[in-house]
Amino acid sequence: MQSVKGMNDLLPEISPMWQYLESTIAQCVQSYGYSEIRFPLLEKTELFKRSIGEVTDIVEKEMYTFDDRNGESLSLRPEGTASCVRACEQHGLLYNQTQRLWYMGPMFRYERPQKGRLRQFHQIGIEAFGLHGPDIDAELLLMTARLWKMLGIDDAVTLEINSLGTSAARAVYKAALVEFLSDIKEQLDEDSQRRLATNPLRILDSKDKATQGLLVDAPQLDDYLDDDSRNHFESLKRILDAANISYRVNNRLVRGLDYYGYTVFEWVTDKLGAQGTVCAGGRYNGLVEQLGGKSTPAVGCAMGIERLILLLQTLEKIPESLASSPHVYILAVGDMGGKVEGYALALAESLRERFPRVRCLSHCGGGSFKSQMKKADKSGAAIAVIIGEDEVASQKMSIKYLRDSGDGKDSKKALQLTLPLEQGIEKLAEVI
Ligand code: ATP
Ligand code: MG
Repeated sequence: MQSVKGMNDLLPEISPMWQYLESTIAQCVQSYGYSEIRFPLLEKTELFKRSIGEVTDIVEKEMYTFDDRNGESLSLRPEGTASCVRACEQHGLLYNQTQRLWYMGPMFRYERPQKGRLRQFHQIGIEAFGLHGPDIDAELLLMTARLWKMLGIDDAVTLEINSLGTSAARAVYKAALVEFLSDIKEQLDEDSQRRLATNPLRILDSKDKATQGLLVDAPQLDDYLDDDSRNHFESLKRILDAANISYRVNNRLVRGLDYYGYTVFEWVTDKLGAQGTVCAGGRYNGLVEQLGGKSTPAVGCAMGIERLILLLQTLEKIPESLASSPHVYILAVGDMGGKVEGYALALAESLRERFPRVRCLSHCGGGSFKSQMKKADKSGAAIAVIIGEDEVASQKMSIKYLRDSGDGKDSKKALQLTLPLEQGIEKLAEVI
């Protein structure tokens, strides 16, 4: 059997990278006072239709939607913001208070799988409710910038920002854009022709070269911005300048979800080919009300974990401490009716008690000394601890170094010591 197309297994060799990335992100967002929230993978389909928008790619073509046994339409979440707002509203988290929240987990979209684009992918989302900005917008960008620094990828990503204005301003602009593009409809790429009737703003970020060329003379969104959005955007830029965050204003930056207005942004890289957006977000002041709550300003973003992992790999920014080979491999050789195995397992337990961070592998399954040593070597462990009948009888352990120190200075590998338990443990401490 094979997994569902576009839904990957995460194998043991890569999971330390994921753990490292997830814990670094958690540490970063928590240092800004953000709290974790978790919500279900499944929601009522209506929630996504009403938030993301009926005529967006996500809702029209990409959702995994099915009827449950009661005939209720449910969908696997394609993103987290809608669920986050739903959960906040349901539990009164937005009542007369601000909230700074983050979450992480799998999202599902029926897209064409390719490098950096999957059907089950993972996002970390960050959302702030109850604050108008632009200071909180700026903080969100500072937080993501800090994260890139922590991960060592800050040289490989750049920030693009734009303002989408109010929905009223956008509507006027949309009409002007449609009027302009309708005259040259035949020259647009197929996708953009379709979007002209459904979601014309998305034409602005068409990847098609010919379409991009035609857009040069198109009406510009920033000419249509209302005063409030313009001031908000200017203040955001001033804060970013003062806080030393570099950015590029990209007037064609729009997002694929209907709920964004005012600030939108993306962190992009040129190191991953077509799937270059590693983090994207913006302001969505209308969404809480749209979903039945009180009008609440909000801003947030989501980053794609798979793309960040690809970027870390491409740039070879993988910390050495991610090595997951054991420090110690404990052999149990001999037949004393379970005594050798028991002694060896008890020793492993006392190591774990003394050194909570130890990675200790106990040999299981018996076999000769030679075959157990082979397994110890293959495990990548620094030290093999040999427990045989003599060691049990004398309450000792034997230690064999499996690797040289690497600097050519010592040849520990030839060394084998037999020591009383306490002294042996002290020796082991040197490699843990
Ligand atoms: P794209 O333009 O690349 O399709 P998007 O605008 O659909 O992205 P968002 O919905 O804003 O993206 O999601 C935020 C981030 O989640 C993206 O920037 C990307 O890093 C990641 N992401 C989105 N869709 C996928 C996917 N199918 N596979 C892997 N990562 C994804
Ligand atoms: Mg997309």
